[in-house]
Amino acid sequence: MLDLKIRNGSVPDFEAGAMLAADIGVKDGMIVSVGRVEEAAKAEIDAEGLVVSPGFIDIHMHEETLVPGAPEPYDIARYMLAMGVTTAAAGNCGNTRQAVRDFLDFIDANGSPINYLTFAGHNSIRARAGVASPYEAATPAQIEAMAGLVAEDIEAGAIGLSFGLEYSPAVSFAEMIGAAGGAAGREILLSAHYRSDGPDGLSSVRELIALSEETGQAMQVSHLVSCTGFGDMRESLESLAAAKARGVDVLADSYPYDAFCTRIGSAVFDDGCFERWGKGFGAIRFLQEPLRGTTCDEASFRLAREEYPDSLVAAFVMNDDEAVMAIAHPLVIVASDGIYNRGFGHPRGAGAFPRVLGRYSRERGALSLVEALRKMTLLPASRLRLGRKGRIAVGCDADLVVFDPGRIVDTADYDSPTLPPLGIEAVLIGGRLALSPRGGPLPRLGRSIRREAIAGWSGGRKANA
Ligand SMILES: [Zn+2]
Repeated sequence: MLDLKIRNGSVPDFEAGAMLAADIGVKDGMIVSVGRVEEAAKAEIDAEGLVVSPGFIDIHMHEETLVPGAPEPYDIARYMLAMGVTTAAAGNCGNTRQAVRDFLDFIDANGSPINYLTFAGHNSIRARAGVASPYEAATPAQIEAMAGLVAEDIEAGAIGLSFGLEYSPAVSFAEMIGAAGGAAGREILLSAHYRSDGPDGLSSVRELIALSEETGQAMQVSHLVSCTGFGDMRESLESLAAAKARGVDVLADSYPYDAFCTRIGSAVFDDGCFERWGKGFGAIRFLQEPLRGTTCDEASFRLAREEYPDSLVAAFVMNDDEAVMAIAHPLVIVASDGIYNRGFGHPRGAGAFPRVLGRYSRERGALSLVEALRKMTLLPASRLRLGRKGRIAVGCDADLVVFDPGRIVDTADYDSPTLPPLGIEAVLIGGRLALSPRGGPLPRLGRSIRREAIAGWSGGRKANA
């Protein structure tokens, strides 16, 4: 007897590049049959007219600050689940909001709305190693301390090391090599928010390719749209493809919006940014109180940088057609880069995946449904070496999202950044209903996924080590 049968769904077959009609049988959290399933089940979902996809895997997002003891300690994880994400990678752009071990231990003890992996964030490690400011170069002793902290975080379960170079202008190439040396012969995944954007975007991408070559580690270039979506997207994609062709293990991710989002006090908004973007103060919109909803001018820009440096803002500075070009490229994984401060932030954290399916694929025809799904499931799963996720096949985890392909679309916007999408009918984690449109309390079926629990990483020794 099956635990669950999902009947008559349309299921992506990534090998064939097509959607196929199939039933899915689930038992003990796993997919045990795909195709014509006759066996009886304790529960059934009729998916006639609906797509049944592997749960979306968000390789690039920003986790919440967990609030132990609060009735609802999770923030962004709830919005992730509501848009079909069942597994997410935290700790991106060099930043972890709490220690890696504390984060994963909390999830082990309390469950989570989604499965979580995490990177170790280099900027957070840099501060722990005693570098006082992002504008201050690290000493050799501090770099050595960083390598030790990276090693600790990998042992605590981090899958890799993320950089946020634009936030820490003083980080040198040698510092990155030194910090990555904490992997000490183990394979890890590097991810990096590049050094600069706009006209400096291409050279920034090349620096990350060089870092991958130098360390021998795989490199995930973060949210490409906000790096080279200023006129250089095509060339940046070509340089990634050329690196890949000569054997460098490099991919990128990107989100489907023409505005980026970060803290107003960050180094991204240092002198010269508006010249680089060819835009003025009016391109920035405040997403948090006390200036929430207002457009920036010189006075509010200076005031906020001084008084509310942690306040999130959106900067409408990238080209929309290049956001689409990035998402449609075969080397680019769909990711949200979602970030919230207690529910305030950019709508991408609640809308990125449905937006690609509804607007980029269905409405604009920029990529097929099956290709869009591949970039949300199989591609990030293989990048993260999650061998049992990202596919609908016997033996895979029953993390699934059921949606209406004719209706799915994001509704979150810059005024209401956490609104759930339309068209998601059900989300399952480990074969159990994690979210249904009928609402109700979330059962927190998500688990931590530590590096040593992932066969593809724990056995991974670097070839040149
Ligand atoms: Zn970033």
